[in-house]
Amino acid sequence: MTSPAGKTIYVEEAVREHPRVAAIIKHFSSPATKPCVIFCDSYQEIFNPKRNNFALQKEHPALIIARKHSGHVQPSPYGLGGKHNFYFSHMLNCIYDCSYCFLQGLYSSAHHVLFINYEDFFAAIAKQIEQLNNEECYFFSGYDCDSLAYEPVSNFTENALPFFSQHPNAYLELRTKSLQIKPLLKSKVVNNCIVAFSLSPAGIAEEYESGVPSPTKRIAAMQQLAEQGWMIGARLDPLMWHDKWQDSYSQLIDAIAKAVPPQQMHSITLGTLRFPRSMVNAVKERHPTAKFLVEGMIASDKALSAQPQIHKELMGFCQDKLERHYPSHKIIPNEVGSVL
Ligand code: SF4
Repeated sequence: MTSPAGKTIYVEEAVREHPRVAAIIKHFSSPATKPCVIFCDSYQEIFNPKRNNFALQKEHPALIIARKHSGHVQPSPYGLGGKHNFYFSHMLNCIYDCSYCFLQGLYSSAHHVLFINYEDFFAAIAKQIEQLNNEECYFFSGYDCDSLAYEPVSNFTENALPFFSQHPNAYLELRTKSLQIKPLLKSKVVNNCIVAFSLSPAGIAEEYESGVPSPTKRIAAMQQLAEQGWMIGARLDPLMWHDKWQDSYSQLIDAIAKAVPPQQMHSITLGTLRFPRSMVNAVKERHPTAKFLVEGMIASDKALSAQPQIHKELMGFCQDKLERHYPSHKIIPNEVGSVL
């Protein structure tokens, strides 16, 4: 993750003395390279200005270490069938570069922001749990980032697992395309943690998921975790129409079913590709020839989404196929939400 010139790390003054900052700087240091550390008053000075060029920054993203002051927990636009759904973002942006990722339309900057006051997130989550009188609730950590990909730097999961193990009615979803499962493998299983892997057929992954471990490797990671007793999620979102899509989704679903037995599968979500209108231009600008923006898609005032017939076919086919391996209550069609 270190560029030849050394990683650029911006550090908010408010967290200058935080022990996690020293550990992260050490992580990016070697005898040959030292990170370039720049202090700033607020991460927004670097992250938000309009002059940012997402594509350029994506080549060599800086890391911005900051403190999250408020809004640690937000209502989630998606769920897994539960009544109370929230998301939280200890990180913004991602080390991978999926062509269809909605983050490129959401932020003008591709720098990685890490909010290291994890304990404040846990306090806000605990408050939310208390307000719900300890009713079952879900917390999604992969809305603005990949939950696990940055783990070697952030150590977030290592900190989050002990917290969630004390709140068995609060489910934590870690959503990832990464293989960063070490902190989970060395931890005791936390039954209310769902390790959810986003998966696409191999051809789609090769074409559109730059820098991401192959689906075969992700499925092997799922299997390893399932064998250790972790609850697994599979996220087939976005489903994309392409040549021979029945064959490729069939193979993908068979591979998942071979790796994760029904009792270890918490949930499988399905959703077709969709972008809010406001994001389409940003995606088109970076990927002007991407077939996924055109083939099987329809534009309206509000969104670019799969044509209704294609949506129906993709969802129906995958749902039928999944139901041959998993109980139907674990299969959740997702009509809204993110493309992560
Ligand atoms: S889709 Fe997910 S894995 Fe891909 S770049 Fe976006 S956040 Fe990262």
